[in-house]
Amino acid sequence: MEQDFYYLCGYCGKNGNVLHQKFHIDHFVPKSLDKKREKDYYNLVLACPRCNLSKSDKWPTEDIARPHNGKSGFVDPADPEFDEHLERNEKGYVVGKTSVGKSMCNMLHLDIRRTDIYWNAAQLKTQLKELEELYREGRLTEQQKDIYIETNMIFNEYIDQAFIKGE
Ligand SMILES: [Zn+2]
Repeated sequence: MEQDFYYLCGYCGKNGNVLHQKFHIDHFVPKSLDKKREKDYYNLVLACPRCNLSKSDKWPTEDIARPHNGKSGFVDPADPEFDEHLERNEKGYVVGKTSVGKSMCNMLHLDIRRTDIYWNAAQLKTQLKELEELYREGRLTEQQKDIYIETNMIFNEYIDQAFIKGE
């Protein structure tokens, strides 16, 4: 399950590997609406606790066959249509592109959450790992050492923010 989602929350894209967090298994169509799909793998979404708890039993259309009605509702993260409704802006925040996307952001509180934190932290972690690899190989230049220290400082600021904001 985690591998299928690359350890990313299906909704906010939070990377569970940054702090080795335990994620939840969300039922895209809520269990309360469709008992039959409780064990259907295609109805399961890897989700961070904040997205899963925010989504809960919400299902605006009240029709299990219709995740959204063109105005509000949800889009399955596994559906290619997902990217038509939501995107990540240049600062790393998840934003709604359509009215459905905006309704999703509202229901999952993505519009008031720091969805940039883990996204940026994950990119910085990758850069740090690359520099550490160079260091182990004895190929790290003085300039890269400075970059490493600066990158590590910014990374730690994001991690502090993750705890402060409860992300
Ligand atoms: Zn999430």
